[in-house]
Amino acid sequence: MIILKDLEVWFVTGSQHLYGPETLNQVAAHAQEIAASLHDSPRIPVSIVFKPTVKTAEEITAVCQEANNRSSCIGIMVWMHTFSPAKMWIRGLKLLQKPLLHFHTQYNRDIPWGTIDMDFMNLNQSAHGDREFGFMTSRMRMGRKVVAGHWQDIQSLEQIDQWTRAAAGWHDWQNARFARFGDNMRNVAVTEGDKVEAEMKFGYSVNTYGIGDLVRIINQVSDAEAERLAAEYADTYILSPALHKGGEKHSSLLEAAKIELGLEFFLRDGNFKGFTDTFEDLHGMTQLPGIAAQRLMNKGYGFAGEGDWKTAALVRAMKVMGSGLKGGNSFMEDYTYHFDPNNQLVLGSHMLEICESIADGRPSCEIHPLGIGGKADPVRLVFNTAAGPAINASVIDMGNRFRLLVNEVVAVAPVYALPKLPVARVLWKPYPDMKTGCAAWILAGGAHHTCYSQNLQAEHLQDFADMAGVECLVIGKKTDIYQFRNEIRWNEVYYQLNS
Ligand code: MN
Repeated sequence: MIILKDLEVWFVTGSQHLYGPETLNQVAAHAQEIAASLHDSPRIPVSIVFKPTVKTAEEITAVCQEANNRSSCIGIMVWMHTFSPAKMWIRGLKLLQKPLLHFHTQYNRDIPWGTIDMDFMNLNQSAHGDREFGFMTSRMRMGRKVVAGHWQDIQSLEQIDQWTRAAAGWHDWQNARFARFGDNMRNVAVTEGDKVEAEMKFGYSVNTYGIGDLVRIINQVSDAEAERLAAEYADTYILSPALHKGGEKHSSLLEAAKIELGLEFFLRDGNFKGFTDTFEDLHGMTQLPGIAAQRLMNKGYGFAGEGDWKTAALVRAMKVMGSGLKGGNSFMEDYTYHFDPNNQLVLGSHMLEICESIADGRPSCEIHPLGIGGKADPVRLVFNTAAGPAINASVIDMGNRFRLLVNEVVAVAPVYALPKLPVARVLWKPYPDMKTGCAAWILAGGAHHTCYSQNLQAEHLQDFADMAGVECLVIGKKTDIYQFRNEIRWNEVYYQLNS
């Protein structure tokens, strides 16, 4: 998985020569101190790199070009300690291809009431210097994040943390490769989409590989390698007796292990960051990848079933964004409802492929019939999921644009045992309530497939959508269905005008 500290966000401070060397030295010293403090903060996952103060259009243009060209740079954070006439920024900002965060902060937290003089006023001008910069970025219609607040303020750090994580996910998508084994599940609409547009908009490519190419690799996995992985399964999970060595279904476990090893080899060899499969195209494969998809997701690969490449890519990006945080991110599907008026719930699951990163406790490794697809019984991990706040996110192709849809939910602890349901599952309540949350999702055209996240919030996804320049709709605690319907209608016009 990706190490976020290897990625850089550049801290760029704007000024001008008018102030003279003494003030500019102070500007540089303060900027350095703020950058170092952000870099050292345990709340900020990436490296914050101090850059010398930019004072001319040439210096601004140069740092933007340099940021574009540095592959480890995932974005720039700018701050106008003093006034930096914003016409100087036009050329640089026009060239800038990396995400932009405008940190509207100030070196001193408090006004030094007893000692404040015009020298102090001259130096500490971000209250108006940042407004000049804000005008230019608004005038240029630039997507960016604005964080306002003191640089030691915990909320500022939280917002910067969210933006840097979104930028890391965005960075990871650029030139990312996703493999589809087989095409789309036949006749399904929402999993389809414009892969050319996606590559232009999101930076990742999606290509299909014949299932035979994968099967050939799976068939090359030796029995000894499969036995080694099967032993790891036995050590890691609560293995059903029939799957143990000598058990009547042990050969199915070996088959599952071969599928995982073959898939992982294929993905690593082709430098892929995720994949899709479909139960309708498993020619030559004995079982649908269950435990393989679950474990590969846990290793950081994006995955979605039924050829759903948009969700597979989103799962990957969200895994990168959540890297190092407690909790996990998984492919998910809204499966069935509990409409008890006193306790309304969604049961989320999939046929098999829920990532073990969201498991509460040690999963059990079981084998059961699938009841669809006509293949051999697949091996899968079965587990419950912990209670707590979470989100569901989905990318859909609206024909003229991509829409990222997010629903804030709260997962609840399982109340009942589900002895006859042999899949990993989650129970959650959508915000603002079951009726509004579900109706809003349907009105927005959200997919049945999502990425379920325990460690990201809607703000991560909003920042991410801004970086991509795509629509983002959030269904959360304050969602009002009347307003939400209007937002969809207004967005329709906005994206028509903006395309
Ligand atoms: Mn599905």
